[in-house]
Amino acid sequence: MSDHCCASEGAIAGALEKIRANGGRVTEPRRAMLAILGKEHGPFSAEELHKKIGGAGCDVVTVYRSLQAMEEIGVVRRCDFGDGTYRYEFNDGEHHHHHIICRVCRSVETLDVCVADGLERMARQKGYQKVTHTLEIFGVCPKCA
Ligand SMILES: [Zn+2]
Ligand SMILES: [Zn+2]
Ligand SMILES: [Zn+2]
Repeated sequence: MSDHCCASEGAIAGALEKIRANGGRVTEPRRAMLAILGKEHGPFSAEELHKKIGGAGCDVVTVYRSLQAMEEIGVVRRCDFGDGTYRYEFNDGEHHHHHIICRVCRSVETLDVCVADGLERMARQKGYQKVTHTLEIFGVCPKCA
């Protein structure tokens, strides 16, 4: 699915630490979710992630809420592929990237180039803080063309 790989053990430990520092609980499902997200690029919907962790003794609503909570503190990143389903991936700050999504088979590739630095700078110059951006590219992949 993707050529992008793998958050380090340290990055995962850092994410768990961040959850604690923000007053969150490091539950077994959260651990399991982060282990998957660190290993596989995704991005995954709550349903997909719930399947991948084999339930881990929690329902899909719990997975969904955990993802939301982890997104708020920047542990995971939410991707919107415009189909009404939010998908999440590990937010390894050092590996900022974008996606190209096939409109037909929904496969995801990563694009390790960012052209938005200038835009973020302009936003900061306008006095905005905590500036971030999301940008997803859509197309029809060579297999589906
Ligand atoms: Zn395709
Ligand atoms: Zn990604
Ligand atoms: Zn970017």
